[in-house]
Parts: sequence; structure tokens; C-alpha cells
Amino acid sequence: MSNDGVRTVLVTGGARGIGRGIARAFLQAGHRVMVADLGERGEWNYDLASESTMQDVVGELGELGEIDYVAVDVTDDESCRRAVAATVERFGRLDVLANNAGVVDSGPIEEFAEADWDRIFDVNVKGIFLMTRAALPELRKSSDAAIVNTASIAGKRGSPRMSAYCGSKFAAIGITQSLAQELAPDGIRVNALCPGIVGTAMWLDHLMVGQGNDAFQDRMSDLIPLGHPQTVEDMGEAAVYLATARNVTGVAHSVAGGLEMS
Ligand code: NAD
Repeated sequence: MSNDGVRTVLVTGGARGIGRGIARAFLQAGHRVMVADLGERGEWNYDLASESTMQDVVGELGELGEIDYVAVDVTDDESCRRAVAATVERFGRLDVLANNAGVVDSGPIEEFAEADWDRIFDVNVKGIFLMTRAALPELRKSSDAAIVNTASIAGKRGSPRMSAYCGSKFAAIGITQSLAQELAPDGIRVNALCPGIVGTAMWLDHLMVGQGNDAFQDRMSDLIPLGHPQTVEDMGEAAVYLATARNVTGVAHSVAGGLEMS
């Protein structure tokens, strides 16, 4: 943390969806944000973000505070190191790492492609490892350092056709608990944010593709005890809390409208 209490936050997968909500919330809380996302549109079963998506988010959120963007592929060690270096070059420091980049795929286990399984684990699990390892030398310099890993309620209970995704999110929670203990002596808090159901590309372009936002809202209002899906603003609020609470580490905090209660 700098003397004025302003922290620098690096948000992976920050160009859109939940990452964009996290970026907005940190800016609104007075911090500086580096959005890190794919520089070129990645090959996947639905469109991922790209440099132009990052330009959009910087344009949209720029009036709230200091924000910039950098291309990263969280599955590539050199790329992670460059993203951290670019953040320090731009803002002079790094205090909070939000490991939020993620991909989803679903399907029966016998038909699930090995390459898709590997990609999900590369982004959702190895990405946390590589980004954390790259960021730690800078985080250790901060007096108010924190890591927030976007896991999921899918990291607390399995679902049919979701072995790869659920497995990757269980792993994210295990990594969070391990790092929380390992880094506690250095004062670095590590928590997991577990979103419930948020109407981002993961749902609208994949899990309920072609059904539209109204069908999504209707289905979720039946399913979720509080009667509505979660928003990216809900996730931003929780991420700021998890990165700020001085005495909270190692938790996997559900923001799910009661759909998941542990
Ligand atoms: P999203 O697809 O809008 O956002 C994911 C972002 O990650 C995209 O901007 C994408 O470009 C980026 N990304 C993908 N691969 C990357 C890579 N290799 N390197 C860097 N960036 C990469 O979906 P979202 O819902 O906003 O997802 C954000 C996080 O929230 C993910 O970790 C996801 O698993 C998690 N999550 C989402 C929900 C939900 O209901 N939407 C629920 C629980 C958890």
C-alpha cells in the first residue's frame, strides 16, 4: 500500500464479466487497476476477450480512476511475468492480485475432449500458480497485500457433465487454503471468491447458449433462494471486501443468493 492508502490491483480476465465488475469496484474504492486479459481472441467454444475488449473497459471505467490494460495469457509463465512487470512500470507497485481468468466447458465424461480438459485446468488452475508466482516478489513489498482467486460454488459441490470445471474450481479452493497458510507469515491474505450464477458469457454464450437473457433470468429465479441471479457488481463488492478485511484469510466466500451456503 502506498502512503495514501491507494493500492494497485491486477485483475486477470478483467476485460469483461466478473473481472470487469472487480475492476470497477476497486476503482470506486479509490484504488488503481491494471486489467489483464488475452491480447488476441483465444480459441475456445465461445468467444473470449481480446485487446479491443480491454480498450473498451479502460474507456468505460477511466472516469472512475486510474486504469490501464496489459495483454496476458495466464497459461504462459513469461506472459505472466510481463504482465506483472508492466503493472509495476505503469503504477510503481502491485498490492492485490485478482486471479479471475477462467474458462468453462461441459459435457458427458466419455465425450469430453482431452485437450478441453487440459485447457480448463491450464487456465483455471495453473493460471493461478503462474500469476501468483510472478506477482509474489512485488506483493511481498506491500504492507497490505492480498490475493483473491475467483473460484466458484462449483468448487464446493460437483454437478453432472461438469467434472473438468468443478474439478478445476475445487483445486482453486485448495490452492487458496494452502497459499493462505504459506503466505500468512508474510502478512499476505489469500481468499477465494465463489460466485453463484452470473449472466456472463459463460452462461449466455455457453451453458445456456441460444436461450437468451430472459430465459436465463426465469430459470435462475426458480433455482436461487433469493430469487435472482448474481451480478458482476455483487462480485466486485465481495472481491474488495476479501482483499481488504485485515483478519480474513483462507476462506472460500460464496456470493450465491443462498444457492450454496457453506
Ligand atoms: P467471462 O468469459 O466473461 O470472463 C472470463 C475472462 O477470462 C474473459 O475475459 C477471458 O478472455 C479471460 N481468459 C480466458 N482465458 C484466459 C487466459 N488464458 N489468459 C487470460 N485471460 C483469459 O466469464 P466470467 O463469468 O466473468 O468468468 C470470470 C471468472 O468467474 C472465471 O474464473 C469463472 O470460472 C468464474 N465464475 C463465473 C461464474 C458465472 O456464473 N459467470 C460462476 C462462478 C465462477
